[in-house]
Amino acid sequence: MEDGLVQTRHCPKCTRAMINITLDIDEAKRTLHSCSHCDVREWEAPTGSINLKGVLDELADSAGH
Ligand SMILES: [Zn+2]
Repeated sequence: MEDGLVQTRHCPKCTRAMINITLDIDEAKRTLHSCSHCDVREWEAPTGSINLKGVLDELADSAGH
């Protein structure tokens, strides 16, 4: 496997090839897969899915007192 190689996804609705847009956000690469045909967008982080649950756990901790 090569680093930085983004695989083409296919739209879950129309199965066309989706457009890949890679962005650097806070030194972390995020890839946006977009279907221009039916306006479907999916975000992808290199570590897997974006760790939203971790953020929520931190918020819950600070609010727990
Ligand atoms: Zn589509």
